[in-house]
Amino acid sequence: MTQEHPDRALYEQVMVPSYAPSNIIPVRGEGSRLWDQQGQEYIDLAGGIAVNALGHCHPELVSALKSQADNLWHLSNGFTNEPALRLAQKLCEMTFAEQVFFTNSGAEANEAALKLARRHAWDRVGEGKHEIVSAFGSFHGRTLFTVSVGGQDKYLDGFRPAPGGITHVPYNDIAALEAAVNEHTCAVMLEPVQGEGGIRPADRAYLQAARKLCDQYDALLVFDEIQTGVGRSGMLYSYMTYDVVPDVMTTAKALGCGFPIGAMLTTKSIGASLAVGTHGSTFGGNPLACAVGLKALDIISRPDVLDGVNARHARFVQHLEEINARHRIFSEIRGQGLLIGAELVEDWRGKAKEFVTATLEEGAMILVAGPDVLRFAPSLIIPEKDIDASMQALDRAISKRLNA
Ligand SMILES: *Cc1c(COP(=O)(O)O)cnc(C)c1O
Repeated sequence: MTQEHPDRALYEQVMVPSYAPSNIIPVRGEGSRLWDQQGQEYIDLAGGIAVNALGHCHPELVSALKSQADNLWHLSNGFTNEPALRLAQKLCEMTFAEQVFFTNSGAEANEAALKLARRHAWDRVGEGKHEIVSAFGSFHGRTLFTVSVGGQDKYLDGFRPAPGGITHVPYNDIAALEAAVNEHTCAVMLEPVQGEGGIRPADRAYLQAARKLCDQYDALLVFDEIQTGVGRSGMLYSYMTYDVVPDVMTTAKALGCGFPIGAMLTTKSIGASLAVGTHGSTFGGNPLACAVGLKALDIISRPDVLDGVNARHARFVQHLEEINARHRIFSEIRGQGLLIGAELVEDWRGKAKEFVTATLEEGAMILVAGPDVLRFAPSLIIPEKDIDASMQALDRAISKRLNA
């Protein structure tokens, strides 16, 4: 029998156990606040993992979605559509890119980037130039190709054989990158800030060295900005904060602010390698997703929103430093804009998840980034009072946990 208010127990019954969701089931969201089935209120600093960049149910996004829903939902790729054209044009105006391929998720955008890199090298040089270099600790998605390029073995265990021609190097290690890149390399793929890997920002010199090596060996520099993109870094894309321009960039997560959409961006000459018939997606570039993405980009690129990200970063960091002065719990507070990580000191290594649970009990949702790091990825327009209240919740949670 179907339950009128399905509960958490039903999850074990009808869902494959690939996630371990919380016992609370949120049913409504508004701005940076969420309410569960029992009407309990939470401040959301998780943002659906850096997705809900304008909070929940932003009125302008809701109206963009509703008006598109009244007009046109889907076409085959035998037709283009106005929202897709407008969004592609806007992405090109606002970034280095000249051409766009739309997808439904981050992993698919990376899959497109990796296939483009192979195909582009194959077009010009041949099959020998197919090697992909990426970093340990990186995360690029859950398809077989993207877990193989990602630098965390646990995501590939049990799924081998993996695609070949992939080399991993330690992140932020210029010498290791120099040793790995050669004339067989078709692409170097990097996150400007490793997200899942623990909120680790690249050194500027590292990204500059990657750019130089790619130029030297005629390989594509691919930046995965799925987590760092769309305003989260304090600029529209993190590569802009580093002033290092990639050949290919992927974006997803915050692009739809919760409506599924991803995109791979590149230049016209490189994009040419995805000639008619080489790649595709049934839903990629559908009018609903693109209409929402267009409005999201329009709002987030406003200077007051981006300036607000930097102001909020400072406010979070100040709170975290005060919490740390009281409890001596963090060894480092790092990140960019509203992608902030707080690494736990030695004594609390491996226990990040416990603090997430404890903070939830105090009324705020936060994330982990690996076993040792607390991650904060709130709405880019979170009100100051919600920042203050959520940091008080974190403080209470830490006090309780430390005194338990
Ligand atoms: C989330 C993420 C992905 C995967 O995106 P999905 O939409 O889950 O497929 C890829 N790369 C990075 C850096 C991410 O943070």
